[in-house]
Amino acid sequence: MRIIDGVRTIASLLKDLFSMSADEKKDFYRSKCLYYQGIVELSLVVASLTTLCFIYSDYMINGSLFPTIIPRLSILLFIAAFFIVTHFCSNPRTMIIMDYFLGHGMCITAIWTAYLLVDNSNSATGIIIVNLIWMVIAYVATNRDTVINGIIYIAEIYITNLFVHYSNYEQILALEIPCIAGIVLVNYVMTAFYLDHYRMSQKLEKALVTDPLTQVYNRHLLERIICNNRIRNSTPDDQIAMAMLDIDDFKKINDENGHYTGDLALMYLGKKLASETHADDYVIRYGGEEFVIILRNCAVTDACARMQQFRTDIESADDAPIHFTISVGVTAYNGNYLQTLQRVDQALYKAKNTGKNKVIVI
Ligand code: GH3
Ligand code: MG
Ligand code: MG
Repeated sequence: MRIIDGVRTIASLLKDLFSMSADEKKDFYRSKCLYYQGIVELSLVVASLTTLCFIYSDYMINGSLFPTIIPRLSILLFIAAFFIVTHFCSNPRTMIIMDYFLGHGMCITAIWTAYLLVDNSNSATGIIIVNLIWMVIAYVATNRDTVINGIIYIAEIYITNLFVHYSNYEQILALEIPCIAGIVLVNYVMTAFYLDHYRMSQKLEKALVTDPLTQVYNRHLLERIICNNRIRNSTPDDQIAMAMLDIDDFKKINDENGHYTGDLALMYLGKKLASETHADDYVIRYGGEEFVIILRNCAVTDACARMQQFRTDIESADDAPIHFTISVGVTAYNGNYLQTLQRVDQALYKAKNTGKNKVIVI
């Protein structure tokens, strides 16, 4: 049944959400906020401007534009403050706080107006309608935010009733409490569904930069590094070296043993490179049997020693699907990844032309 499948999906997504580490959760909520903030912002600003239309209904109730026009127009100040703060400070936490700020701005101007209206019996409707605003903000907010906001909103109704004296206060509270509980529940469901999208994007992103045969990075990642001319979390002071590695006489291996054995050799090499490099290094399959390795926090002399060790490990490996050797070029990163790649290619070319099965540094 579809309903049961839906419940199962949400349950497994929520399980995933609750088992996330603090860092992963932070990244997830950040991503959720950045994904939805644009549409949430648009909805809030349109809703805020729409409250100006109530100037006409206020006029019909009071028979005059004054004094409710001032509280109604004061929403423009809230909108201005919202734009100024989110313009200068666009981190997700600030944006969520400002979303709630604008939502409460709408409430405050409405309550102020209700205080000045001769008949405030429509307040109940207005107060319940505001839950749509909290529902919209729930797209970017965390579950904790919706709970805290729910408590603040009920406190706001309680306090403002002391001077506005809503004509149907009990009815408002009786409706508001289940509404807040419903919004918290809906927020969990929406968060779970975004998690589905988040996980899918992570898988696609990983597939996009992963070589299916060797499971190391593929050329897409190298193109991205060259295009941005930077690698993740690097600083200008980092010592970075680049190596380019190529299997010697690989065509012969294929021709004599078949492509399947050739593939096994590539898989073996990819696995060995991944295990013998550091977690923050990049191992990239550049082409057929050529790999580029970006070694982080590594001086060129250390890179050369490490690649020399790797070359002898491959040469003397007794667990390889077939015996093979490699040639390696090494160079220091010179501030430009494209130029560094060209230099390391020259180093590899030299290694190939001077006997193979060796490491050459340029
Ligand atoms: P050198 O020592 O000069 O590098 O010679 P080589 O034979 O290794 O180089 P060459 O460029 O002549 O041949 C590379 C071969 O790699 C040719 C191609 O069929 C093979 N190759 C490329 N990609 C794959 C792959 O994914 N699997 C297998 N099995 N072979 C591949
Ligand atoms: Mg080769
Ligand atoms: Mg080659």
